[in-house]
Amino acid sequence: MSVVLIRTYGDPILRERCEVVAYEDGKKTALLLEDIVRAIGAAGMSAPQIGLRQRVICFQNGDVIISLINPKLSAVASEEAEVDEGCWSLLGTLAPVSRPVSCEVVGTNIEGQEVSISLQGMPARSCQHEIDHLNGVLFIDLLSEVKRHLVLKKHRKFKIDKKIRANGIRIQLRP
Ligand SMILES: [Zn+2]
Repeated sequence: MSVVLIRTYGDPILRERCEVVAYEDGKKTALLLEDIVRAIGAAGMSAPQIGLRQRVICFQNGDVIISLINPKLSAVASEEAEVDEGCWSLLGTLAPVSRPVSCEVVGTNIEGQEVSISLQGMPARSCQHEIDHLNGVLFIDLLSEVKRHLVLKKHRKFKIDKKIRANGIRIQLRP
């Protein structure tokens, strides 16, 4: 059984800009992210959340998981919607975040092909949330100061209540 540490708010890696990664390295990270997303039922996960400064994300799109290496938003809708959002690095709280309702993302998929994918609704939101992580941006940055304060307070309380260590959440993966 391998153990992965999901970094939580306060870990400096969550505020760093991730680097473009070679396909083979990105693929290894993507496979690990997919295992984690499956194991914990997350909507998505990004490399910096597991301590890797690489531009790799994965997210749920209906029944399938999409992994992208060096993803870039190539277009976003002008229409935005406010929907409750959470994050495994900021567990214990949700807050409504306004984001474009659809987007188009380009990047390398797990098979090594350059792809362009159109997304709407939740997958579009997850994809934007995960790409933000690659730039050191967290969903709380998109909130008003008052709401951000409230979210951080709830997250701190959650960590104390669940006795989560300062450095993150341990996830066990089956071999
Ligand atoms: Zn997140």
